[in-house]
Amino acid sequence: MTAIPPGATIGILGGGQLGRMTAQAARTMGYKVHALDPAADCPAHAVVDRLITAPFDDADAAADLARQCDVITLEIEQIAPAALHAALQFAPVRPAPAIIAQVQHRGRQKAWLTAHGFPLAPYRDVQTLADMQAAISELGSCYVKSCHGGYDGRSQLRVDSVGACADAWRALGEREAVAEQALDLEMEISVMVARRPSGETMTYAPALNHHTNQVLSWSVLPAPLPDALTAHARDIALGIAGAMELEGLLGVEMFRTRAGDLLVNELAPRPHNSFHASERACPTSQFEQLVRAVCDLPLGDTRIVEPAAIVNLFGDLWRDGRAPDFAPALALPGVRLHLYGKTSARPGRKMGHLSVTGPTPDAALTNVRAAAAVIRLSI
Ligand code: ADP
Ligand code: MG
Repeated sequence: MTAIPPGATIGILGGGQLGRMTAQAARTMGYKVHALDPAADCPAHAVVDRLITAPFDDADAAADLARQCDVITLEIEQIAPAALHAALQFAPVRPAPAIIAQVQHRGRQKAWLTAHGFPLAPYRDVQTLADMQAAISELGSCYVKSCHGGYDGRSQLRVDSVGACADAWRALGEREAVAEQALDLEMEISVMVARRPSGETMTYAPALNHHTNQVLSWSVLPAPLPDALTAHARDIALGIAGAMELEGLLGVEMFRTRAGDLLVNELAPRPHNSFHASERACPTSQFEQLVRAVCDLPLGDTRIVEPAAIVNLFGDLWRDGRAPDFAPALALPGVRLHLYGKTSARPGRKMGHLSVTGPTPDAALTNVRAAAAVIRLSI
């Protein structure tokens, strides 16, 4: 396998904030970057050499992207298989289309994890309203999640009774779904794993993640966990990446239940919101690691140099399109502002994040929450 050296061109399917930050890391290393996104004003547009504006199911556009690139990667998994295969005619696609197809459908993803022996919450496939009702009567309260297209808690509902199923089935669009038992969570963590075509693999320490209304609100790296639990989480992520023969990054979201189980929640074959703190905590950010992995270069050091935390900034903080005053947060020592260049701020939309380090994970978290609090006070 030959490395794709700096100076070459990386193509990214998707131009959201993950694509933008990947492009920034790639440019730092001397790569050229092309991207494809449905929106001409997407976050990546300002930092790429070429943006193709096309939907994610446009196979011709994906081929057009790949024709001018040395390797293709992605920042969102909802890319149509036909587009991935069209790109593959002209450049390696990393992660491979077969992995993306496995992951982009919740039912297939769970079936794959089960078949390979990875621990999951009890769940049932749901094709019909009757399936959902049967799942709730067997498993009790469930999170019912559409197989396609969900993220940030969209396309999923908590359903607590058989009687509530009909409304939930309609609200989810009467589409195939999985019903997953609602768990009593002690915490949520995630592990980022990188693997390059030559087989070298590297994990980051687990991050501890806090969700509000099913959306990530803050994350701290490393999660303050006993060593055995950290090792167990890393082993699960490494096992998945190896079994998939991953080329690129895989974010593995995990649930730690109060009963003491460590279960896989879901997979993301790309950079992940919960590893934005890697830019501050580690010698190699997740974005640089993705570039190294897909270009088959030596993977970077993932040690924790100093704990770091991030807090997401949502569109709710923007009033009538006006950004909040960031100055009071930037006046706090060590606070960094990351804005994604989104042109319109909607409630719930991720507009950016704040990051800061600290001598311990708890201290980093306290610092970043203080920074978020002064921004909220300023609006
Ligand atoms: P998304 O693709 O939107 O991130 P997830 O399946 O990760 O979907 O669910 C989003 C969040 O909802 C989780 O991070 C967790 O906080 C909560 N959640 C999802 N499934 C369960 C469950 N089975 N039990 C308890 N909480 C859950
Ligand atoms: Mg999730």
